[in-house]
Amino acid sequence: MLKPNVHYADLKESYLFAGIAKKTKQYLEEHPGQKLYRLGIGDVSQPLCPAVIEALYAAVEDQSRPETFQGYLPECGAPFLREAVAAHYARRGVTLSPDEVFVSSGASDELGDILDLFDRSVPALVIEPAYPAYVDANVIAGREIIHLASGEENGFLPEPPRTVRSKLIYLCSPNNPTGAVFSREQLRQWVDHANATGSVILFDAAYEAYIEDDALPRSILELDGAKTCAIEICSLSKTAGFTGTRLGYTVVPQALSRDGMSFNAMWVRNRTTKTNGVSSVIQKGGAAVFTPEGQRQIKEQIAVYKKNAAVLTGALDRLGIWYTGGKNAPYVWLKCPGGMGSWEFFDYLLHEIQVVGTPGEGFGACGEGYFRFSTFGSPADTEEAAKRICRLLQ
Ligand code: PLP
Repeated sequence: MLKPNVHYADLKESYLFAGIAKKTKQYLEEHPGQKLYRLGIGDVSQPLCPAVIEALYAAVEDQSRPETFQGYLPECGAPFLREAVAAHYARRGVTLSPDEVFVSSGASDELGDILDLFDRSVPALVIEPAYPAYVDANVIAGREIIHLASGEENGFLPEPPRTVRSKLIYLCSPNNPTGAVFSREQLRQWVDHANATGSVILFDAAYEAYIEDDALPRSILELDGAKTCAIEICSLSKTAGFTGTRLGYTVVPQALSRDGMSFNAMWVRNRTTKTNGVSSVIQKGGAAVFTPEGQRQIKEQIAVYKKNAAVLTGALDRLGIWYTGGKNAPYVWLKCPGGMGSWEFFDYLLHEIQVVGTPGEGFGACGEGYFRFSTFGSPADTEEAAKRICRLLQ
C-alpha cells in the first residue's frame, strides 16, 4: 500500500480566513443589503499600472509573429528580467550578478519550494505572529518548528535566540501581519547570529516597496555578511499589483554555501528540474516595473495605500490605541481596546459598525488580543471605516 505524506495530518485547520468568511456570510444573511467595510483583505485593489499593461499587450503581440514568437525561456528567468532586477538592486547599493536572481511565479511558491535545499533535520525558526505559510510549508515537509513569540515589549521585532543550533530562520520585514520593520541594527544581530551558527535566513521582502524611511533596510542584502547567510524572497504582488498576474524573484547569493555545497548551484538544478519557467508575456510585463516610468507609476499606486494607512493610524492616534505598522508597511497591527480578545473585537466591529478586519490570533497564539487592518481597500471605504471606528471607540 502506498504511504501518503503523513505530515499533512499534522496541519492545523486553517480557520482564520475561513472563519472570517463564515462570520461575514452569516452576518450578511441576517442583515441583507448591509454594506461591509473590508479592512481584512491581503489582496490589492488597484489595477496594473499603464507601463505594465502596455508591455503586456506588446508581449502578446510578439507571440503572434514567427519572428518575435517566444517559446521556452531559461528556467531561472529571462536574462532581461534578471538583469533588470540586478540593476534595481545596484541603484540601492547592492551589487548582484544577474545569475543570483531567479524569476519566480511569486513569493508563496518560493517559500514552499525553497525548502528542497535544506536537510529535514534542520529546524525552522518562525517568529510569531507570522504569515501562516511559513509554518504550514514546514509542517508538510515534516520539519521541526521553533516558534519564537514576539510582543509589544520588543515592538514585535525580537532578538535572535541565544542558542547555537543552526536553523532555517524566517524573517519578514516589513512584516505581515504586524507591519513592524527591522532596523539596520536589529537585522545586523540576525545576520551575525546566522553566520555564527551556520544558519540560513529566508528573508521575505514581499512588502519592501512600502518602506519610506531611508534609514531602514529594504533588503537584507544591504548588510555586510548577509550574502553568506541569506536568501531573499521578493514579489511583485504588493509592489506592483501582480497578485493575480503572478511574478516574483528570489535572490540566492553565490557566496551562500554550507558543507561545500553552493545553494545557488543547487537552486539552478532545482529550477531546471522542477519548472520550465515563468510565461514570457508576464516576464516582459514585469520588466516594465523596473523602468523609470514603471517605478514612478507603482509609487503613485503605493501612495494610495499609504494614504489609507495614514487615515487608519490617524484614527488610532486620536483614540490612543497602541499599534505598529502603517508607516513603512501596508498593515496596521493594533491592540484590541478594553482587553478584548481578537475574535471578540472582530465580532464587535462587524456587528456594531460593519467593519471587517483580521483577528491577530490567527497568526499565532501571541497574536491573541491584537488585530490587523489592511490598507489595500478603497480610499472611500477606508475613510468611512475610520470614521466609524472613531465613533464607536471614543
Ligand atoms: N509573503 C508574505 C509576507 C505575504 O503576505 C504574501 C502574500 O500576502 C506572500 C509572501 C505571497 O506573495 P505572492 O503573491 O507573491 O505569492
